[in-house]
Amino acid sequence: MADGPRLNSCVPIPKDIEQLKDVIEKAKDWALMHGVGIRNKKEFNPDALQIVPFTFFPSAFPRKEFEKAVKIQPILNELIHRVAFCHSFLEENLKDTIQVDEFTGNLYKIYETVRQEGINPTNSLGVLRSDYLLDHPDCDKIKQVEINTISTSLSAMGFVVAQLQRFILQELGHYDKLKNLPENRALEGVCGGLIEAWKLFKNPKAVILMVIEDVVYNICDQRFHEFRISELSPKTRVIRRTLTDLAQRATLDADKNLIIDNEVVAVVYYRSAYEPLQFHSQKEWDARLLAERSSAIKCPSIHYHLAGTKKVQQALARPGAVEQFFSDPEKVTAVRDVFTGLYSLDFDELGEDAVKKAIEKPERYVLKPQREGGGNNIYGEKIRDVITKIKGSRERTGWILMDRIVPPVQENIIIRASQPAARTDTVSELGIFGIIIGDSNEIIYNKQVGHMLRSKESTADEVGVSAGFGAMDSPYLY
Ligand code: ADP
Ligand code: MG
Repeated sequence: MADGPRLNSCVPIPKDIEQLKDVIEKAKDWALMHGVGIRNKKEFNPDALQIVPFTFFPSAFPRKEFEKAVKIQPILNELIHRVAFCHSFLEENLKDTIQVDEFTGNLYKIYETVRQEGINPTNSLGVLRSDYLLDHPDCDKIKQVEINTISTSLSAMGFVVAQLQRFILQELGHYDKLKNLPENRALEGVCGGLIEAWKLFKNPKAVILMVIEDVVYNICDQRFHEFRISELSPKTRVIRRTLTDLAQRATLDADKNLIIDNEVVAVVYYRSAYEPLQFHSQKEWDARLLAERSSAIKCPSIHYHLAGTKKVQQALARPGAVEQFFSDPEKVTAVRDVFTGLYSLDFDELGEDAVKKAIEKPERYVLKPQREGGGNNIYGEKIRDVITKIKGSRERTGWILMDRIVPPVQENIIIRASQPAARTDTVSELGIFGIIIGDSNEIIYNKQVGHMLRSKESTADEVGVSAGFGAMDSPYLY
């Protein structure tokens, strides 16, 4: 990969990074003192933080493509909203997957249950993030990796790391470069969406319930949201509970208000519930259903969650699918333009063709199960093994195949806790945040609110920061 296309770093990186030693030390302290932090996974200590991996310099990213990603976000928000409220589309495209993928099957059961009861007339809140890589061969076009609809994180981290890198460039005297660091209001924007939803609930005493994992490593990103909400709207309170807490103590009152520990919940904001291990038993699933039945505004509602599955992403890439949701051809073209090849592994002609292509040239694809959170996809030669194993069984319809996007490489320095700073080739992934609020009748709020960038060693497959692969970064536009 090191021989592939290259971008110039925003500043020349010295051969001997020893000369940056003082600024690296200072930057690490800046990071710790401003919350560029994470809890240690190996030696978990709730009273201690260590620096989150970050790149020392912002990474070069073409301005034109950055602006394109920003511009299409409201269209993507609208698309997800329309898909989520289109029962026939979800049913048709998930019907096989839910037979073989237990997790998606359980989500679908909740969806069916509330649908038959009559989906709560309350609004859905989407905090979405569309992720992109620049594509080979010219690296001048963004291609969408995926769009996240649940537990979308790192809006705070993205914001604060951009400030850190600004400080680093200043310390090194690169004042002329600062103008190319785009403003980022992602944290404020996401908090603004949560507050807006809270206001729509029209009960000033009700709370935003952040549903958290049993053990939270990515604590800074979450707390920044709580603190900023409190600054922007001092009367909006946020409480944190796990799915198991909900299973044990949450109830619905006669008006279907969700109550936990004597608090009425206005907004259920999931920073958990995106992977099977977070559901320890049927009780956690019952809790997810209870919340869905309630009058609270869900972020995401079960149908937004389903609209964010990889299977739906693949279905949307089929010819004619986006056209179903937009009559405006400009919107269709704008969305199609950022899609790359996505293929189902269904038992039909197209599916057989995909199986064949993946076995022949596995290096050209990524094989994905219906999972979120990083570390689940299959790359390279392993694709051949997995597909060979599953191609005769129904299980294969739970997977999708995607063209592998090959982004350009650039040099940077990755700073990790307890490790020497290292000069390395990196690749970057851009995420754009969008907020959408609405119900089956109308969209009442639809905005693009900011961005974040993550980078990784060019030899690594994935870029997830919480999952331990990537480093926080921010874009330097050229
Ligand atoms: P998850 O839900 O686990 O985040 P993603 O689809 O975002 O799943 O994939 C995880 C990571 O794998 C991405 O952040 C990206 O670094 C890498 N990846 C995913 N799809 C592709 C692709 N088509 N080409 C290249 N890299 C990919
Ligand atoms: Mg992802």
